[in-house]
Amino acid sequence: MADRIALEEHFICDCLLPYLEADMPHVSGDARARLLADLSDLGERRLAAMAAAGVSRAVLSISGPGVQAEPDAAKATRLAREANDVLAAEVQRRPGSYSGFAHLAMQDPAGAADELERCVRDLGFVGAMVNGHTNGVYLDDPRHDPVWERLQALDLPLYLHPGDAYRLPYVLEGCPELRQPVWEWTTETASHFLRLVYAGVFDRFPKLKIVLGHMGETLPFMLWRLDSRTKFLADKRPLALPPSEYLKRNLFVTISGQFDDVPLAAALSALGADHVMFSVDYPYEDSAEAGRFLDRAAIDAETRDKVGRGSAAALMRL
Ligand code: ZN
Repeated sequence: MADRIALEEHFICDCLLPYLEADMPHVSGDARARLLADLSDLGERRLAAMAAAGVSRAVLSISGPGVQAEPDAAKATRLAREANDVLAAEVQRRPGSYSGFAHLAMQDPAGAADELERCVRDLGFVGAMVNGHTNGVYLDDPRHDPVWERLQALDLPLYLHPGDAYRLPYVLEGCPELRQPVWEWTTETASHFLRLVYAGVFDRFPKLKIVLGHMGETLPFMLWRLDSRTKFLADKRPLALPPSEYLKRNLFVTISGQFDDVPLAAALSALGADHVMFSVDYPYEDSAEAGRFLDRAAIDAETRDKVGRGSAAALMRL
């Protein structure tokens, strides 16, 4: 029986439901009702889904965008705290099955840093999840330094989860099939991580641990090319290392929603098994399919154990 840890596993609480509903205009009817029911359930149905994937511990997070879509910073801060308290109560009810990622109002980085620390020290959370940009501000903006300082001191990861593009890139106009998870979120989130690299965030905070889902949003495929082409840039900002070194050091990925041997092989080869972790992306992906994929993936037993549990246990000290 597998004993896996999964860390892109979503839920929703009543106070953040309006932000989620506004963000899912393309999902309707039965599928929408089922998703919302699964996200709201923290009981037997969720535990059964975890068992189907061989997961014994799920690190739970708000299904985005959450308060990051809120224009009023004070309201965002208040609601994030409320959501974290709801999650803490659920974790306390089932401490053997659930852990938590903090939900943060990035509109107020100093306040977000304080809330992160409260969530870790008082509520026992094991990191934070941020859903892309916050009203058009990306995490490489220096105003976020208080969050990075605190995160590095706590030595816990930040899961950079996809969100919609702030403005739809022109290349996606007129092609609705490419919106959201099919392609938009991949380029959006990979670009967001690369902004951290090129802005020198990892030179200033070398111990940051950033997690990307979906097998790293194609980045494990790109190390050589990033180094090769960055070398020739005339107007680049100074970096201590070639870009690939930050990916190998500061980037961790989960297999959420990428249940395929080809990207798994790329992630393991590029980053090493210590940086690759299991996840489902519940309830947006099928738990049994995720579990079956890792059961049968073309990797050796030691690697399977690391991806299933060991790498996540080490990253979050579980
Ligand atoms: Zn997700």
